[in-house]
Amino acid sequence: TVVNLDGKLVPPAKATISVFDRGFLYGDSVYEVVRTYRRRPFELDAHLARLARSAGRLGLEPAWDAPRTRRELLATLAAVPPEADPDPEAAPWNQGQLSLRVIMTRGAGELGLDPALAVEPRALVIASPLRAPPLAAYRAGVGCRIVGVRHEAPGAVDPGAKTGAHLANVLAVREARASGAHEALLLGAGGQVTEGASSNVFAVRAGALVTPPLGAGILAGVTRALVLELAREAGLPAREAPLLPADLAGAEELFLTSTAREILPVTSLDGRPAGGGRVGPVTTRLGALFRARADRAAGG
Ligand code: PLP
Repeated sequence: TVVNLDGKLVPPAKATISVFDRGFLYGDSVYEVVRTYRRRPFELDAHLARLARSAGRLGLEPAWDAPRTRRELLATLAAVPPEADPDPEAAPWNQGQLSLRVIMTRGAGELGLDPALAVEPRALVIASPLRAPPLAAYRAGVGCRIVGVRHEAPGAVDPGAKTGAHLANVLAVREARASGAHEALLLGAGGQVTEGASSNVFAVRAGALVTPPLGAGILAGVTRALVLELAREAGLPAREAPLLPADLAGAEELFLTSTAREILPVTSLDGRPAGGGRVGPVTTRLGALFRARADRAAGG
């Protein structure tokens, strides 16, 4: 792991931030997680654009603009030595790969919620080994649990912004893991499933791909957008529409998308077999298209 703190590479143990930092105190920060293929960042432009959007929604003036963020991210990546002992359980394309977390906080200041108390924004990059599901999870699928988090609670942070205020998602994952599930699927105010705690959700219904619309109160996943694009290119019918728990339970196939997970099949829901209880043909096809796209992007 290598940390870039405000433009300086520092050993992880020396990478510290003030207890008065508002990211720590209030989750008053925005972030992105970028992954590599063959040690090259994937979909970096889309992540930088979303970071700027997230900051804009919070009125947070980031310490680095997009070109600087790109430079700092690449410099951090270049400083990470090749992995000595790659995880043998990881999928081959994930072995030796990195996750690059970029965090922009509003900075430290006197205690108090008023953002005007912040003195100076801070920026950092953490480059660490990618933690992706093991190859076995892509072959067998994972379990999900539907959790009653209400994204649209009064005063809730805009789910379209990727902020440090993630407590609802943390608690949802806690609940899911307690029941042995890999991921929590979050319920919106209307009783529809919106997204995972750190992923987007797709179902195959009557042969067509369905995923909740951005207006459902979800993060505009970079992987989600790519999957919709791949489906369009392949002539696979796809639409953005609400999904109720019963729609998921009755779907022919289910999968999650996220930067680290890519396309991860879901084969059980709330402890019962779902998505046919196996990895279905549409998921397999999209997975192959995704792999080809990632490979091409990495110069393969
Ligand atoms: N939804 C939430 C709440 C997330 O935190 C994430 C990513 O961590 C995603 C969806 C997936 O987004 P992406 O595909 O850009 O990683």
